[in-house]
Amino acid sequence: MSKAIRIHETGGPEKLIWEDVKVGAPGPGEVLLRHTAIGLNFIDTYHRSGLYPLPELPAVLGREAAGVIEALGEGVDTLAVGDRVAYPMNAGSYAETRTIGARDVLRLPEAVDDRTAAAVMLKGLTVEYLLRRTYPVAAGETILLHAAAGGVGLLACRWAKHLGATVIGTVGSAEKAELARAHGCDHTILYREEDVAERVKELTGGRGVPVVYDSVGRDTFEMSLNCLQPRGLMVSFGNASGAVEPFGIGQLAAKGSLFLTRPSLVHYIAQREELEQASSELLRLLETGVLTVEIGQTYALCDAEQAHRDLEGRRTRGSTVLLP
Ligand code: NDP
Repeated sequence: MSKAIRIHETGGPEKLIWEDVKVGAPGPGEVLLRHTAIGLNFIDTYHRSGLYPLPELPAVLGREAAGVIEALGEGVDTLAVGDRVAYPMNAGSYAETRTIGARDVLRLPEAVDDRTAAAVMLKGLTVEYLLRRTYPVAAGETILLHAAAGGVGLLACRWAKHLGATVIGTVGSAEKAELARAHGCDHTILYREEDVAERVKELTGGRGVPVVYDSVGRDTFEMSLNCLQPRGLMVSFGNASGAVEPFGIGQLAAKGSLFLTRPSLVHYIAQREELEQASSELLRLLETGVLTVEIGQTYALCDAEQAHRDLEGRRTRGSTVLLP
């Protein structure tokens, strides 16, 4: 048995129930993992609310965690009991213990502690694919990034600076602006008060940016298109304010022959080789201090309800970790 946070039906944060769930012995190719730190991600709120439907209910929520291997299933010879590991994208992480495929976890280097790993695997691998593969950011380019003081946002600021880009970041408050700047964001825009497209034009000599990374969704979609230079790329990768409304593709022509993509991490780490390559780049940047992780707040796992309320209420900064 393990304590876990499950939902029996979709809805608000009150649907998160702290209860016992059955955990069997690890099957062939699996390991038994005792979690030490669990990552909170906005995607968890989409699963809880039903925006992204889960295949079946009840379900243990969460996608990301770090922990220690306690037992090995048949045929697992690449890992050992006692190994510290983490995983970025596997359903059911809001639990004290669980079983998981050995192929889904990555061994952690000594320099990366468990809380850091839980704060950074899903978000850092997201930043890797967005900045390196969806639109490979080049030195000297100026990019626009929404929610720059969030978990993904702060990591993206640091990584984009490392690539030599100039970062324009939108944020919800003056305190968040300061935090984003401390993580390398060159220019901050208070998007609840300022005209973002106008500021972006000012900052880019009237040209606009070649790429916008937009995780806010409904509230920022159109404004993001207005910030792009002709043939620029709109990367719509999240829905913190709600799903983007359907729109006519003619808008892409009218606003400058724009490109649009709606990517998801799962399709960028589907092959084990891709997962290993992207993770080794992420872990190397952490070990060398190029990336540092801002864990803005932690909660006991049993208080996941409050963590969800704060994340959706825009009260968190940087990454959030749940502690079992
Ligand atoms: P964040 O820490 O970035 O939290 C979300 C932030 O969005 C808030 O802090 C807030 O910042 C901003 N925001 C703007 N409008 C709203 C609103 N109406 N309600 C709530 N928040 C709002 O979360 P994560 O780092 O976990 O994730 C960031 C985004 O990236 C999410 O949209 C997530 O779904 C997406 N994502 C997508 C992935 C993919 O592969 N497609 C993978 C990982 C994450 P502020 O106060 O500054 O406005």
